[in-house]
Amino acid sequence: MAESSIDPALPKEVRLRDLRPTEAPVIVLGRVVTASRREITRRSDGGRRPVLSGLLSDGTATVRFTWWDPPPQEIDRGTVLRAGPVQIREWQGRPEISFTWRTRVVEASEAELPRLIPEELPARRVADLSGGDEGFRLEVRILRAEAKPVTVGEERRLVHEGLVADDTGPLAFTAWTDFHLTEGEAVRIAGGYVRAFRGRPQLVLDERSHVDRIPGVGLPPAAAFVSAPPRAIALLEAERGSDLAVVEGLVVGLLPPSGLVYRCPSCRRSVTQGLCRLHGAVEGVPDLRARIALDDGTGALTVHADRAQTERLGGRTLEECLRRLRDTPDPGRLEEELFEALFGTRLRVTGRASVDDFGLTLFPREIAPVTPGVGGRAPALRDRLAREGRP
Ligand SMILES: [Zn+2]
Repeated sequence: MAESSIDPALPKEVRLRDLRPTEAPVIVLGRVVTASRREITRRSDGGRRPVLSGLLSDGTATVRFTWWDPPPQEIDRGTVLRAGPVQIREWQGRPEISFTWRTRVVEASEAELPRLIPEELPARRVADLSGGDEGFRLEVRILRAEAKPVTVGEERRLVHEGLVADDTGPLAFTAWTDFHLTEGEAVRIAGGYVRAFRGRPQLVLDERSHVDRIPGVGLPPAAAFVSAPPRAIALLEAERGSDLAVVEGLVVGLLPPSGLVYRCPSCRRSVTQGLCRLHGAVEGVPDLRARIALDDGTGALTVHADRAQTERLGGRTLEECLRRLRDTPDPGRLEEELFEALFGTRLRVTGRASVDDFGLTLFPREIAPVTPGVGGRAPALRDRLAREGRP
C-alpha cells in the first residue's frame, strides 16, 4: 500500500469513528470483536452464498461488518484485519462495512491499531452509555470487583467482573485482563466499550483499555450504593432495571418452575420429561430454585432465587428434599411447602434487575427476610393477601 494518499484515487485508511458513507475507496483497520458465519440463499438461482458478519473495533468505534464469500478457515475473535477497498453504507444512522469481491483482507498486527490517548477521548457519564458505545473515558468508583474462573473451550481462564458507578448510577463491567481493581477506589477508564448483555449495558475492558487511579473528588462513596434504601418497583421498571437494584416487598406468589427441578448436566437448562431442549435425552441433575413474585405496592417483579438462596428461604436443603421425595413421592408437595414458607413474608432483595419478555426480573446477590416492626402495615397486608390469595 502507498504511504501517501494525496491522490484521491488511492484508497485512504479511515478510523472507524470517522467512517461515513462514501464512494471513495476506503481502507479500514480493526479487531474482530464478534464474527459468525452463515449462508444466504440467492434469490436469482437459489444457490447458497457464505457470509461472515460481526463487529469490528479499532478502539475509536465499533462497526458492524459483512464479509461476502469469506475464506473457509475460521476468523478468530481478536484477529486484527486490514481491509480495502470496503463498501460503507448507513443503517439506522450508523455506518456499516461490506467486504465485497473487490476487497483485499489481510491480517494486521495489534500494534497498528490507533494508540488511545485517554485525554483525547470524550468524557461520558454512566447513565448516557448504551450498547455499541466506544471511544470514551469514564470516571467511576469501583463498587465491587471479583475474579471468577470460567471455561473457554478447553481453557480455564479468570474473568474479572463487578460494578462501577458515578453519580448517575451503577454499571456492570467485565474484563479478561486483571486491572487490579479494588472496591472503593476511584478510576478513570478509557478505551472500553459497551455491549448489551441480558437487556442491560455492560462495560467491557480489554488489554487495550487504560485504567488510571484518580482522587475521585465528586464521585459518590461505594457505601452510598451498597446500603442504598429500597427503590420502588414501578420506578425500577420505568428505568428498565438496574445493575444494583435494592427492593423490598411481600412475597405474593411462586411461579413455575419452582422447588425441585432437574437440569441438563451439560448446559444447566431445565429438563422436562428427561429431555433437554439442546441435548435431547439426558440424566437430569436435581436442583432447587424459586421464582418469587415480589410486590411492593407500586409494582411486582420476579426474583430468581438459586439453590443456596432457596434452601435458606425454604429452610430445607436439596438433600433433605430428595430424601423426603423418596419417602413421599410427591414433588408438588415440596413446592407447596416452599410456597407456604414464603408467602406473605417481607424480603429485601439486592441484585441485578432487567426487563425481559416476562417483565421485570431480578437476579439476586442477596435475599434477606425483613422482620416487620410492631404495628407496621406488613401484617395487615399479609392477612389481606392471605384472604385474596391461595387458600
Ligand atoms: Zn442441555
